[in-house]
Amino acid sequence: MTADLDRPSLPLRAELAGLEPYGAPQLDVPHLLNVNENPYAPSAEVVADIAHDVALAAAGLNRYPDRDFTALRADLAAYLHVESGVELAPEQVWAANGSNEIMLHLLQAFGGPGRTALSFAPTYSMYPEYARDTSTRWVAGRRAEDFAVDPQQAAATIAAEAPSVVLLASPNNPTGTALPTATLEVLLDAAARVPGGCVVVVDEAYGEFRRAGTRSALDLLAAHPHLVVTRTMSKAFGLAGARVGYLAASTEVVDALRVVRLPYHLSAVTQAVARAALRHAPELMAQVGSLRVERDATVTWLREQGLTVAESDANFVLFGVFDDRHAIWQGLLDRGVLIREVGPEGWLRVSIGTPEDMTAFKDALVEVAGL
Ligand SMILES: *Cc1c(COP(=O)(O)O)cnc(C)c1O
Repeated sequence: MTADLDRPSLPLRAELAGLEPYGAPQLDVPHLLNVNENPYAPSAEVVADIAHDVALAAAGLNRYPDRDFTALRADLAAYLHVESGVELAPEQVWAANGSNEIMLHLLQAFGGPGRTALSFAPTYSMYPEYARDTSTRWVAGRRAEDFAVDPQQAAATIAAEAPSVVLLASPNNPTGTALPTATLEVLLDAAARVPGGCVVVVDEAYGEFRRAGTRSALDLLAAHPHLVVTRTMSKAFGLAGARVGYLAASTEVVDALRVVRLPYHLSAVTQAVARAALRHAPELMAQVGSLRVERDATVTWLREQGLTVAESDANFVLFGVFDDRHAIWQGLLDRGVLIREVGPEGWLRVSIGTPEDMTAFKDALVEVAGL
């Protein structure tokens, strides 16, 4: 082919050719139950306090922000202590623009060409994209019929594939499945045997919604320097618009991430918003309890309708199985209820909203599915 100098071709990486940007539809409908947001907006009082701190930050915007965001890391460590009882030094905490950027930092530091990232499907659909974007080989093992990770089978996959990164969402998206501590211990042991090393990342984006008796992987941090636990302010905290994700790990892990992050990646405005919000953690999290109750009630109701429902420790529920799930999804949307067409064939996922949202969801589903 001769070069057309008026329309030079673009040197797009071959693995990106023809790809569409990924993302759930953002539609303007009354009941948004498709991306697991907290349905409760911050109170006027919290909004005013955030705005006050943003104004203070704005007065110094001629300067670059604290690139190590030391005050925010101390606040996050204090929050995790209250939430899970685990004591962490601020140097063990790292933050970024959403836990999506946290994952990218992890793969930039511990993945890369010639290396493998491993997870167990069905799981979060963004993981293979982080792998692709960092030229990391992607391998997906399978979850069992009930969406649990089989410890012995997973350990064998780790031994066979020798990944440098294992990604485990717990509670898992889109299934809601939590990872038992005993399973995590088996996987940490298998990862410790990988020649060259392997970090195990437990993505606890929905950690605060876990049921009583479900433990956080934070409990295992002290004994396992190759364990990373990621969290976010996007879900339980109700702050998805602020873009703040974070992790807890050994200081060795955090030091590696400081090398790959972009300079000043967390803006002064973001740091101010996150710190002001953390001061109001109890208020912002006040609805987590009622969302959990609503979640359990939704599981029970769906089962009473004769549907198959996955156990959920999160703020969403995966249910099915429909011959034509797209028709169900579309029928709900036509009635103003947006849920997510995701997960294994025939299943659908609904996020837990307000009681009004859930009534609209149930009424629409009864009509559309003829329950
Ligand atoms: C929603 C979600 C996140 C959060 O992403 P942010 O970038 O922090 O908003 C992370 N992991 C999983 C599995 C999620 O579902």
